[in-house]
Amino acid sequence: MAGFTKVIKGGAFTQKTFPCSQCGASLVFSADDTALKCEYCGAINYLYPPKIPIYEQDLDKALAKIEQTPRYNLKAPKEIKCPVCAATFTLEPHIRSTRCPYCNAPIVTNLDIFMPLAPESLLPFKINGKKAKEIFKKWVGSLWFAPSELEKYTRSDSRFEGIYLPYWTFDADTTTHFQGYRGDTYYERVQRVVYIDGREQMVEEMEPRIEWTPVQGEIDRHFDDILIGATKTLPRRLADSLQPWDLENLVPYDDKYLSGFESETYSVALDDGFDYAKSYMEFAIREAVRARIGGDHQKISYIQIYHENKSFKYILLPVWTAHFRYRGKEYRFAINARTGVIKGERPWSSWKIFFAVLFVLTLLGAFFFMSENEGAVTHFFETLPSIQIQLR
Ligand SMILES: [Zn+2]
Ligand SMILES: [Zn+2]
Repeated sequence: MAGFTKVIKGGAFTQKTFPCSQCGASLVFSADDTALKCEYCGAINYLYPPKIPIYEQDLDKALAKIEQTPRYNLKAPKEIKCPVCAATFTLEPHIRSTRCPYCNAPIVTNLDIFMPLAPESLLPFKINGKKAKEIFKKWVGSLWFAPSELEKYTRSDSRFEGIYLPYWTFDADTTTHFQGYRGDTYYERVQRVVYIDGREQMVEEMEPRIEWTPVQGEIDRHFDDILIGATKTLPRRLADSLQPWDLENLVPYDDKYLSGFESETYSVALDDGFDYAKSYMEFAIREAVRARIGGDHQKISYIQIYHENKSFKYILLPVWTAHFRYRGKEYRFAINARTGVIKGERPWSSWKIFFAVLFVLTLLGAFFFMSENEGAVTHFFETLPSIQIQLR
């Protein structure tokens, strides 16, 4: 249950590399070997993660402790002195590990000593950078109407970044009290006057009605491992879309896994993360309430959700990301480095769409022309909704 109150008064910011025992060059984590590998001589150093269970922490206790911990100025960029080439450079405030911009040495810092919470577990990289690039190429190839520049980008030696992103996972027991109405459809015989051949006649019809019955009840639900991205580097939509993750394979945190990769500390606070989790829970609970009310229609007039036994984990998950600029706009995509699932934003080629539309119009035009009905052609083009295509 260690982990919080990590802020160490007077703690020094340090940075390190993991030197190879054979040649002294730097070791980096190799996704293919699940081990540290020497970038120079290829020596493998296996990791032996301790076989300890990954515990969840009590949420309320952690929030209370965070309240009491001193604030450290995390906004200030940090000065790094490369342990290999001794060059100095600054690091964005939330970056824990990186590569030296001068000698490419993989550097891991102890940034977490300044944070109220330190990550306790992670999933190591399983998909290497080469494989990630193939996945990206395949994805781009599958995109309709993507600009050709995008394909060029996949062939270029563009920068792919392996990064451990921070995530919260939340567990909670919930009890929900609700009141509402159950609506059952029934049919009522009604008489109606109709005119048949000018003669007034009475007919009987069945008309639908809804009978509303007041209902109330209680629903208990347990939620396990609701995953909330704690990064602001990737849009939430993207960070949360990379599921599922094999969280049953989490290993205790060890900074050796970070060597050669970027990694971030959380930039979405724990309580804000739980607020996101609560909205996910409420969505699922409302569905369950509607199912419980039953009938043909449901109204929920009152709902009160109580969260108990709240717990969380602070974990790091491996992601390959890259971004590209296309016509002044930035597009990002991300790959789950455990499963290879890729999600991303994509640009559209206005030229390709323009020619596709032109092609369809030509076909339609030819069709109308062949039908030898000039009126139809004119009419068709007049009624076309104005298609506005921006050719920037
Ligand atoms: Zn070596
Ligand atoms: Zn260096």
